[in-house]
Formats: sequence, C-alpha cells, structure tokens
Amino acid sequence: MEIINDQEAIKRLKVARRIAVLTGAGISVESGIPPFRGEEGLWTKLSPLELASFEAFYTNPARVSEWYQHRRNIIEKSSPNPGHLAIKKLEEIVPDFKLITQNVDGLHQRAGSTDVIELHGNIMENYCVCCNQHYSTSEFDEVFRHNSNHIPHCYCGGLIRPNVVWFGEPIPAENYEKAYHAAIQSEVFITVGTSAQVTPAADLPRYAKRNNSYLIEINPNHTAISDIVDLNLRGTSGTILPMFVKDYQEILSAD
Ligand code: NAD
Ligand code: ZN
Repeated sequence: MEIINDQEAIKRLKVARRIAVLTGAGISVESGIPPFRGEEGLWTKLSPLELASFEAFYTNPARVSEWYQHRRNIIEKSSPNPGHLAIKKLEEIVPDFKLITQNVDGLHQRAGSTDVIELHGNIMENYCVCCNQHYSTSEFDEVFRHNSNHIPHCYCGGLIRPNVVWFGEPIPAENYEKAYHAAIQSEVFITVGTSAQVTPAADLPRYAKRNNSYLIEINPNHTAISDIVDLNLRGTSGTILPMFVKDYQEILSAD
C-alpha cells in the first residue's frame, strides 16, 4: 500500500459497491486552472460579487462576459491531469460509481468520465436569458468577436449568459436530486479539491456521513469538513489519486 494504511479504510473499501466522488476546483489546479479561493485564487484580485452573480452581469455585462471569455481561453488550452484520469479509472473498476462535480470546466468529460453530475453547469455553454437559445462555444465566440463593446446579444435582442450557476441562483433540481441520492446511497464518499464552503454542494458529504458512508478527503489543506472525515489524504489530487487507485486495486484483489 502506498497511501491507504488505515485498517478501517481498507475494510470499508473492500466491501463497498457504491462509491461517490465530489470534486471541486482543486482537482483542476494541476491543469493550470485557478481555483476561487486560496493563494492561487481568482478572488484575490477580483471580488466574486463583482463578477459571478446575475446582478453583476446585468449591471456590467461586458466586464463579466470578458472575464468568462478569459476563463474559457484558459480551459480550452488546458488538459485533464492525472487526477481526472484516475477518477475515470475508478469509474471502470467500482461496481456502482457516481461522479459529482462543482467544476464548470468539463475536464472530467475530456478525461473520459461519463454521466458526470454537474452541479454548477458548464462554462463552455451559453444561452440567451430571453429566448433560451443555446450557443456553443464557437457560436458564442462569433457573437463576441463581432461585437466591439463586448456585450453579447442574441439575435432576439436578449443578453447571452454562461450556462453556470451564479451566487444566489439554485442548482437545477434534477442535478441536485441525483447528487443527493448518490451521496446518501454511497458506502464510501470521497471529496477531492473542494474547500466545502459552498452550500448546498458542501452538505453532500455531511448527508453521506449521516447515512453511515465512510468519508475520505483528498486535499493539500485543511477544509471546512476535515474534522468530520474518516480519512484525510493530504496532498495534491494529481499525486494522491493515482496512488489511491493503485491501492484500491490491490485491496480488491487481496484475499
Ligand atoms: P474552492 O476554490 O473553494 O477550493 C479549492 C480547494 O482546492 C481548496 O480546498 C484547496 O486547498 C484545494 N486545492 C488546491 N490545489 C489543489 C490540488 N492541486 N489538488 C487538490 N486540491 C487542491 O473550490 P470549490 O470548493 O470547488 O468551490 C468553488 C466554486 O468555484 C465552485 O462552485 C466551482 O463552480 C467554481 N470554480 C470552478 C472552477 C473549475 O471549473 N475548474 C474553477 C474555479 C472556481
Ligand atoms: Zn434570444
């Protein structure tokens, strides 16, 4: 075993059929995508309330749209890292695997994960707030580039916004229900790279724990849920997750 030395963890992983994983911005840090909090955080230079809310967008659509375009450019140039790939591997070997993400970057899908439960939407998609017309990244680029004031308007005249969940907005009910069920039915629940400060996503590990799931946290830093987890694996996800998968395979094949 490289990192799983705890006997209880080994026992629980050995028998678990249902494992759920919740990822946050931290898993994409090693792909070069900055998180919102912490040293590398986007919010150290720009306030979230100035950018990630409908009010901010409505007040200053050009500034908010430029910021999202900037983030899209970073994501387009990035690639999934060993952490994303290890999660794809887990999907192949866990009998009943569920992946829930707070990320909007689509890197899990690019790593090959299927059925990703996206709690906060996907930054590569856009839609019109008036007629609901959807715009792919390239269609949006077209509108954005041909518009010198950088205010993206739909042909109907409405504003085009990113398909993400902003502060103060609810998570689409269907997605939250799927995530909630994955959490309460899990026998092992693993959080990766999330500060667990944004509810209701941060409630999921707590619901899992209340239903006797075994909680594992993968994060280089202490978080809001560190004190309630059963096993803390300290380190970056790009390093820890591949080792975790290797140990898990060993646990499954041991008599
Ligand atoms: P967060 O920014 O609040 O916290 C990031 C966490 O990642 C921290 O706990 C930090 O210690 C940890 N971390 C840093 N580097 C890491 C690494 N290499 N490996 C593992 N962990 C690492 O992130 P959050 O909890 O996901 O909440 C922020 C919100 O911001 C989310 O709702 C999400 O939608 C949004 N967001 C998404 C992206 C993205 O899609 N990549 C990027 C920024 C923000
Ligand atoms: Zn429209």
